Amino acid sequence: MLNSFLLIAEAVVYFSVMVTLFKFRSRVGLGVFVCALGVMHFLETYLASVFYVALPFGMVSPGSAVLFSGKLVMLLLLYIKEDAAKVRQPIYGLLLGNALMIGLVLLLRMHTIAPMSDGRLPDIGFIDEMGWLMVWGTTLLVVDAILIILLYEKLGRYLRQAQFARILISVACVLTLDQAGFFTALHFVAGAPIAVFFGGWFAKMAAALAFSTMLVAYLRWFEMRDIQVPRGLTDIFDTLTYRERYEALVEHVGRDGLTGLLHRGRFDSDGEAAVQASLRTARPLSLLIIDVDHFKSINDRFGHAEGDKVLRAVAAVLGEAASPQDQVFRIGGEEFAILSMRPHPVARLFGESIRHAIKASAAISRFDLTVSAGISSVSETTSCLADLFALADQRLYKAKSTGRDRVIGEPGGHEADTAIAWTRSDRI
Ligand code: GH3
Ligand code: MG
Ligand code: MG
Repeated sequence: MLNSFLLIAEAVVYFSVMVTLFKFRSRVGLGVFVCALGVMHFLETYLASVFYVALPFGMVSPGSAVLFSGKLVMLLLLYIKEDAAKVRQPIYGLLLGNALMIGLVLLLRMHTIAPMSDGRLPDIGFIDEMGWLMVWGTTLLVVDAILIILLYEKLGRYLRQAQFARILISVACVLTLDQAGFFTALHFVAGAPIAVFFGGWFAKMAAALAFSTMLVAYLRWFEMRDIQVPRGLTDIFDTLTYRERYEALVEHVGRDGLTGLLHRGRFDSDGEAAVQASLRTARPLSLLIIDVDHFKSINDRFGHAEGDKVLRAVAAVLGEAASPQDQVFRIGGEEFAILSMRPHPVARLFGESIRHAIKASAAISRFDLTVSAGISSVSETTSCLADLFALADQRLYKAKSTGRDRVIGEPGGHEADTAIAWTRSDRI
């Protein structure tokens, strides 16, 4: 009886202090809440490995029943009121902090340790045990946190009005799964008996009930109620796993700042790879070089800023015209390139459609702007990107010298391009 009462008291104290820190996050910063959450981690693991009390239904540790369950609920609170990007900070912090601890202990144990005046020596074995349990605990926490958020979001579709049920089911399901995972480790590391599993599970279910009640009360009374816009599940998962930032970085690298198109460096590397792949696989590859006609006069007449706008508009037309088989690059001031998997005759039609689209574009038409393009395709006479480029460039030059506003895709302007007659089968 006293044990149960003490556990409830611990849960209430833990919850009240933590939500108070959370409540004042805008004034004192979220770091206070997150640090407090982190500090509890050592105590939580220590208690879970050695501190058990007997309850009618089994052995229970305040470490898992109160502190671990509480932490998961705090992460859910962080998600509900903030977002997934905030939740991942404590999770990854704990994970990396634990890894650092293990690393430091590996170094520390190499010391020749001087005994204390009373002859005591540090218990490195204990630190090891704690360290690995903490790493395992946080690894589970990463999984738990992702699961609880995904589950909470999924349940939102059916239980939008029933916040308590939604929170309770999410917490209870994830804690059940977690109990199975943490007990497995505890069993092998500390030899915990099966009574610990059931005792812990019952306790965690009681904790789920208590914490969910307190969380709903807190949300209802202390946090302003605002409507949550449901987010896509993959979107949340990406945020939690930092994937979205990585992908944004990869996407950003190699992009031209003005137009957002891929830049010259990417053209050189991707282009060469594409040419080699085309030669190897006999799949068609065409290159279109597109140059804006008399662009200098736009700058001269309307100023550089207006010129920039026009370049963006041209880039937008190219981007829209392109399909997944095309890659669009800005390779110079007002020069663009498209690497396309279209065969040569189709690429020429594509070039023509771009020329018309530029003229027709609302943002461009008032400048009476036209483009010229040269087109080449991988054939037996092209063994690298430079060959392909030289050919397209010659044709672009020809388009310029014969009056601009045209697309040229064949040598001399009339003969069929070698690429059309070229049969790839005889290359392989
Ligand atoms: P054509 O190609 O038809 O022979 O004539 P052009 O006037 O387009 O040719 P040229 O290549 O001589 O001029 C290109 C101009 O593009 C020169 C430069 O002022 C302008 N330019 C290059 N980069 C930028 C840019 O980033 N922003 C703006 N606004 N202008 C740029
Ligand atoms: Mg030009
Ligand atoms: Mg130019």
